[in-house]
Amino acid sequence: MIYANEYGTVDLLAEQFLQSLKSDKGTIGVKLSGGADTALLLHLLAKEISERNLNFSIVPYTFNDKPDRFIVAQNIIHEVAKTFPKVKFEKHQYDEISPPYRKVFDKWALKLTRQYDIVFFTNGVNLPAPEEAITINKELAKFVGTREAPRNYDTQDLERIGIQDIPEYSPFKDVDKRFTAQLYEDEFLLETLFPLTRSCLGSAEVTDYHEKPCKICYWCEEKYWAFGQYDAIG
Ligand SMILES: [Zn+2]
Repeated sequence: MIYANEYGTVDLLAEQFLQSLKSDKGTIGVKLSGGADTALLLHLLAKEISERNLNFSIVPYTFNDKPDRFIVAQNIIHEVAKTFPKVKFEKHQYDEISPPYRKVFDKWALKLTRQYDIVFFTNGVNLPAPEEAITINKELAKFVGTREAPRNYDTQDLERIGIQDIPEYSPFKDVDKRFTAQLYEDEFLLETLFPLTRSCLGSAEVTDYHEKPCKICYWCEEKYWAFGQYDAIG
């Protein structure tokens, strides 16, 4: 279905994309960070599966880039599963992560393709906030859009490790976080799903041991730029 607002257009699971897949059934590997973009992606995928009677199940997987990240992700999964009870969720997968990140992603891509009949992987990667919107972390704002940034793990990476017929689908790659924020409003998710999301990657020292957002990391800046608010709690 086409989702459009003043910040862009995304045709999620377009017919052309579905036809390019190796199968019209199987499992979607959803990289769920617990941030606003991946939470929205999980919600919209479940909505598409439910409303279009698609034959896909979902396996969400999470890397603990903060100690409680898998719990944040589980709360999001619970909320989406409650909203779309017809959709089948496989057991949530999660793991620790440390550099080099692409190696960890490689390991997990191989593990998940062995364990499930993965038809495609997907992620919530979008355009970074423009430099002028970011006051503290201009360098990171520039870096996150480059191919070298770990978050931009893509189909080429999967092919590099021998996974040939399973794409990494990035439906938000041409829109920025303002598009995400507008969709939260349009889909009535600001009171339900949004408060469960966490973007801040600040250290324990600047977040009272993850009790509150740091308000200075790139992810805090980006969330505030798009939504006008920080994480509800740390
Ligand atoms: Zn932060």
